[in-house]
Amino acid sequence: MNGRAPGHRRIPCQQPLAQYRSNAAVIDEAIRRTLDSGWYVLGREVEAFEREFADYCGTGEAIAVGSGTDALRLVLQASGIGPGDEVITVAHTALATIAAIVMSGATPVLVDVDPNTGLIDARRIEAAVTAQTRAVIPVHLYGQPADMEAVLSTSRRHGLPVIEDAAQAHGARIGDRRAGSLGLAGCFSFYPTKNLGAVGDGGAVVTDDHDLAGKLRMIRQYGWDAGRTARVPGVNSRLDEIQAAILRAKLPGLDADNERRRVLAERYNRALAGLPLSLPRVPDGVEPVWHLYVVATERRSELRSFLSDRGIDTAIHYPQPPHRHPGYADAVRIGPGGLPVTEELVERIVTLPLYPELEDAEADAVAAAVAAFFA
Ligand SMILES: *Cc1c(COP(=O)(O)O)cnc(C)c1O
Repeated sequence: MNGRAPGHRRIPCQQPLAQYRSNAAVIDEAIRRTLDSGWYVLGREVEAFEREFADYCGTGEAIAVGSGTDALRLVLQASGIGPGDEVITVAHTALATIAAIVMSGATPVLVDVDPNTGLIDARRIEAAVTAQTRAVIPVHLYGQPADMEAVLSTSRRHGLPVIEDAAQAHGARIGDRRAGSLGLAGCFSFYPTKNLGAVGDGGAVVTDDHDLAGKLRMIRQYGWDAGRTARVPGVNSRLDEIQAAILRAKLPGLDADNERRRVLAERYNRALAGLPLSLPRVPDGVEPVWHLYVVATERRSELRSFLSDRGIDTAIHYPQPPHRHPGYADAVRIGPGGLPVTEELVERIVTLPLYPELEDAEADAVAAAVAAFFA
């Protein structure tokens, strides 16, 4: 068996349409209810979603904003971080992490990842701290929790707040806590392909810090307080009522979706074991949520075209580290030790299809095609 039977539809790498279809009844109801309410931005649905999402994450507060990028940028702004300040984060991440820091006016200082996990390496944080450092942003990339114990203890030693980029990690567990609930704040995106996805843009910050939450509520809407007097300079970064209503409808299904992702990831792990490619490694004590299933091989481009010829789409998350994007090259600084692990990883990583609606038979067909390639 080295390919898919003719006549099969392609297997996309991600599939937000399938998410809509499997939730269509509750999503359609949420949209209709919101349209009939006559109130479309920052209202009851947003308030209810904020409460429900904070409860889900185990934090005192959730503040809904316009995107995951804004969640990060506004936490930095609300923390008084801006021009002249440095924020330490990884180069191996979505460009959005870096864009948020640059938007705040601060300089991203890029550190390398641990070769075993592909996640932030706390020893690199230590080496990158300067008198200008104001925060650390670990990223729970692909839904794999970063080593928060090491990140938090290193940051605490230097008096630095930790802001978790949990945009790919809704529901992931670190010990008995949810990703996003361990640092000063956790930042989430509800982009349609994320583990909890809207049908447009959206984001949220979760935190136990009530002062920070209050500031974020002002900043997201021109700086207004409850009486519409601006107390701080602000922006417009609000969540629509329709998106909030949809997220409320989907939140009760998040754990089941994550469980389905885990079952599929383990199916891949079993089927691909023994092949000459690196599989994701999960450290003890954490429960990832498999936002993406990423493997690594020297023969990436050959593998990708082999799979594509057999109707299987793949992707690369992410093909270029931030400093190689012309728009960011001058805006970032590379931490001590450089980025050898990141530079090497970006040449080898490839994302296989994984989403809750992927069928067992489709996952088996993907794994069989990968095996056929290496045979
Ligand atoms: C998606 C994502 C973001 C940004 O979210 P948007 O809602 O697209 O702004 C930030 N960080 C990571 C790691 C992401 O995957």
